Amino acid sequence: MSKSIFQKIIDREIPAKIAYEDDLVLAFHDINPQAPVHVLIIPKKPITRIAEARPEDHTVLGHLLLKAGLVAAQLGLKESGFRLVFNNGRDAGEAVPHLHCHLLGGRAMTWPPG
Ligand code: AMP
Repeated sequence: MSKSIFQKIIDREIPAKIAYEDDLVLAFHDINPQAPVHVLIIPKKPITRIAEARPEDHTVLGHLLLKAGLVAAQLGLKESGFRLVFNNGRDAGEAVPHLHCHLLGGRAMTWPPG
Protein backbone atom coordinates (compact mmCIF):
# COMPACT_ATOMS: atom_id res chain seq x y z
CA MET A 1 0.00 0.00 0.00
CA SER A 2 1.38 3.45 -0.89
CA LYS A 3 2.09 5.97 1.84
CA SER A 4 -0.52 8.62 2.54
CA ILE A 5 0.45 12.30 2.41
CA PHE A 6 0.30 12.42 6.19
CA GLN A 7 2.59 9.40 6.59
CA LYS A 8 5.06 11.24 4.33
CA ILE A 9 4.83 14.27 6.64
CA ILE A 10 5.47 12.04 9.68
CA ASP A 11 8.48 10.54 7.86
CA ARG A 12 9.68 14.04 6.87
CA GLU A 13 9.50 13.16 3.18
CA ILE A 14 7.38 16.25 2.52
CA PRO A 15 7.51 19.49 4.51
CA ALA A 16 4.90 20.80 6.90
CA LYS A 17 4.71 23.63 9.42
CA ILE A 18 4.82 21.63 12.64
CA ALA A 19 2.84 22.99 15.60
CA TYR A 20 3.44 20.15 18.07
CA GLU A 21 5.04 16.72 18.13
CA ASP A 22 5.58 13.94 20.64
CA ASP A 23 6.01 10.19 20.42
CA LEU A 24 2.32 9.54 19.68
CA VAL A 25 1.00 12.49 17.68
CA LEU A 26 2.02 15.19 15.21
CA ALA A 27 0.23 18.52 14.68
CA PHE A 28 0.85 20.70 11.64
CA HIS A 29 -0.80 23.61 9.88
CA ASP A 30 -3.26 22.73 7.11
CA ILE A 31 -1.99 23.62 3.63
CA ASN A 32 -5.42 25.01 2.66
CA PRO A 33 -6.66 26.73 5.84
CA GLN A 34 -10.39 27.15 6.33
CA ALA A 35 -9.99 29.52 9.28
CA PRO A 36 -7.25 31.85 10.59
CA VAL A 37 -6.01 28.86 12.61
CA HIS A 38 -6.34 25.46 10.93
CA VAL A 39 -4.14 22.71 12.33
CA LEU A 40 -4.35 18.97 11.79
CA ILE A 41 -3.53 16.64 14.68
CA ILE A 42 -2.72 13.08 13.62
CA PRO A 43 -1.65 9.91 15.36
CA LYS A 44 1.74 8.61 14.28
CA LYS A 45 0.15 5.18 14.19
CA PRO A 46 -1.49 4.81 10.76
CA ILE A 47 -5.12 4.50 11.90
CA THR A 48 -7.16 5.06 8.73
CA ARG A 49 -10.18 6.77 10.25
CA ILE A 50 -12.27 6.75 13.41
CA ALA A 51 -14.46 3.94 12.04
CA GLU A 52 -11.35 1.76 11.71
CA ALA A 53 -9.96 2.53 15.18
CA ARG A 54 -9.66 -0.45 17.51
CA PRO A 55 -10.11 -0.79 21.27
CA GLU A 56 -6.33 -0.78 21.74
CA ASP A 57 -6.20 2.69 20.12
CA HIS A 58 -8.04 4.32 23.02
CA THR A 59 -4.84 5.63 24.62
CA VAL A 60 -3.56 7.31 21.47
CA LEU A 61 -7.00 8.75 20.66
CA GLY A 62 -7.42 10.16 24.14
CA HIS A 63 -3.90 11.56 23.94
CA LEU A 64 -4.70 13.13 20.57
CA LEU A 65 -7.72 14.96 22.01
CA LEU A 66 -5.77 16.23 25.01
CA LYS A 67 -3.03 17.51 22.71
CA ALA A 68 -5.59 19.16 20.43
CA GLY A 69 -6.68 21.18 23.46
CA LEU A 70 -3.07 21.98 24.31
CA VAL A 71 -2.28 23.14 20.76
CA ALA A 72 -5.46 25.26 20.73
CA ALA A 73 -4.33 26.94 23.95
CA GLN A 74 -0.80 27.44 22.61
CA LEU A 75 -2.25 29.13 19.53
CA GLY A 76 -4.32 31.50 21.67
CA LEU A 77 -7.74 29.90 21.17
CA LYS A 78 -8.59 28.85 24.72
CA GLU A 79 -10.71 31.89 25.53
CA SER A 80 -12.21 32.62 22.10
CA GLY A 81 -13.00 28.98 21.35
CA PHE A 82 -12.31 26.52 18.58
CA ARG A 83 -13.82 23.58 16.73
CA LEU A 84 -12.50 20.03 16.39
CA VAL A 85 -13.66 18.04 13.36
CA PHE A 86 -13.04 14.46 12.24
CA ASN A 87 -14.20 13.78 8.68
CA ASN A 88 -14.96 10.07 8.39
CA GLY A 89 -15.73 8.64 4.95
CA ARG A 90 -17.29 9.88 1.73
CA ASP A 91 -20.26 11.84 3.02
CA ALA A 92 -18.03 13.74 5.44
CA GLY A 93 -15.59 14.69 2.67
CA GLU A 94 -12.65 12.70 4.00
CA ALA A 95 -9.79 13.10 1.53
CA VAL A 96 -6.76 11.63 3.32
CA PRO A 97 -6.98 8.05 4.66
CA HIS A 98 -4.96 8.71 7.82
CA LEU A 99 -7.02 9.73 10.86
CA HIS A 100 -6.80 13.48 11.47
CA CYS A 101 -8.46 15.97 13.75
CA HIS A 102 -9.05 19.42 12.27
CA LEU A 103 -8.51 22.22 14.82
CA LEU A 104 -10.22 25.35 13.53
CA GLY A 105 -10.32 28.73 15.21
CA GLY A 106 -9.72 32.44 15.02
CA ARG A 107 -13.17 33.25 13.65
CA ALA A 108 -16.79 32.60 14.61
CA MET A 109 -18.07 29.27 13.25
CA THR A 110 -21.55 28.61 11.92
CA TRP A 111 -23.84 25.73 12.83
CA PRO A 112 -24.97 23.44 11.29
CA PRO A 113 -21.74 22.83 9.36
CA GLY A 114 -21.95 22.55 5.57
P1 AMP B 1 -10.08 15.75 5.08
O1 AMP B 1 -10.89 16.35 3.96
O2 AMP B 1 -10.81 15.74 6.39
O3 AMP B 1 -9.51 14.39 4.70
O4 AMP B 1 -8.88 16.75 5.32
C1 AMP B 1 -7.65 16.64 4.68
C2 AMP B 1 -6.93 17.94 4.93
O5 AMP B 1 -5.57 17.76 4.64
C3 AMP B 1 -7.42 19.12 4.07
O6 AMP B 1 -7.87 20.17 4.92
C4 AMP B 1 -6.19 19.50 3.27
O7 AMP B 1 -6.08 20.89 3.05
C5 AMP B 1 -5.07 18.96 4.15
N1 AMP B 1 -3.83 18.67 3.47
C6 AMP B 1 -3.65 17.94 2.35
N2 AMP B 1 -2.35 17.86 2.03
C7 AMP B 1 -1.68 18.56 2.99
C8 AMP B 1 -0.30 18.86 3.21
N3 AMP B 1 0.66 18.42 2.39
N4 AMP B 1 0.03 19.62 4.28
C9 AMP B 1 -0.94 20.07 5.11
N5 AMP B 1 -2.25 19.82 4.96
C10 AMP B 1 -2.62 19.08 3.90
